[in-house]
Amino acid sequence: SELIEEDDTPVRWFRANLCKTTREKILKEFGHLDQVSSFEELEVGKIYHDEYIPNLFGVHPKEKIVSSDAYLNGRIIIQDRASCFPAHILHPSPGDKVIDACAAPGNKTTHLASYLNNIQGSITAFEKNESRSKTLKMMSEKAGALGCITVNVGDFTASNPEDFPDVTGFVVDPSCSGSGIFGRAFDEDSKTDDAVDEERLAKLSGFQFTIVRHAMSFPSAKRLVYSTCSIHAQENERVVVDLLNDPQVKSRGWRLCSRQKIIPDWKRRGFVEEFSSFEDPEAMAGGCVRSLPKVDGGIGFFAAAFERTDESISQVS
Ligand code: SAM
Repeated sequence: SELIEEDDTPVRWFRANLCKTTREKILKEFGHLDQVSSFEELEVGKIYHDEYIPNLFGVHPKEKIVSSDAYLNGRIIIQDRASCFPAHILHPSPGDKVIDACAAPGNKTTHLASYLNNIQGSITAFEKNESRSKTLKMMSEKAGALGCITVNVGDFTASNPEDFPDVTGFVVDPSCSGSGIFGRAFDEDSKTDDAVDEERLAKLSGFQFTIVRHAMSFPSAKRLVYSTCSIHAQENERVVVDLLNDPQVKSRGWRLCSRQKIIPDWKRRGFVEEFSSFEDPEAMAGGCVRSLPKVDGGIGFFAAAFERTDESISQVS
């Protein structure tokens, strides 16, 4: 929903909302559209079944989706493909308790709920902005996902980890520069973009680091996905590197997941040079995914996944 107003979206992505329907029913509802094998082939009347995210489909931006009954009644949710990465990477299993630390408007929260079929687990969704938290509640309701979502209006960094002894998974998608969103200057080599306001980026990355580190201090946390819709290394790989080098994070046994655990077939990974201080920079970059605006069919995006073993959890506690 962050982007549905965008005119020059190359693809309109939507996912079947498993809190309200099944993949089969959605395929039937959109059965009049002919399947194509890549999103570049999309035109009105065609549909692409995404190969990376289950139950995600792409149509031509001019396809009438927003006026469809499926959309109006929350059986499908319009969400950029890359923005679907975090919940898919976390992939909560029935019974899991997870936290979405920065939740409004709720795209990733309701996507997480889809993995829990709305009832088999719980999601605590933090949102510090009161008016945005209302949107989050509305969106969760429209998605039929209030069976597992509890909205917590407040600052996630002020939460007490001991109040959440059973929470194992986290999506942390904090405020960022939004430089991956269309209409802003970008190119492949945006790292040297003059327009980048270094001071603003430094502030944002400091906040991003703090909020992820707080999530990493929860007693049973063992898997965490960090994401931004920024294309700048400063908010992405550099935050990851700072976390991995942080003594508190290290002492808790956190490490970056291997490529195998984070959409392995997706080609565009983290910037290798940002991990030059590590023994195997290529492997570290493999623990991150990137998406380029437009070329990859949607917004510019970054995600990295961290994990720690049950053994390191018991050593800390
Ligand atoms: N994950 C959302 C989605 O997919 O729909 C988008 C999240 S947006 C990038 C970041 C959100 O985090 C904003 O709504 C912002 O108000 C909220 N936020 C920022 N700092 C926060 C904090 N300390 N605690 C909780 N929420 C925070």
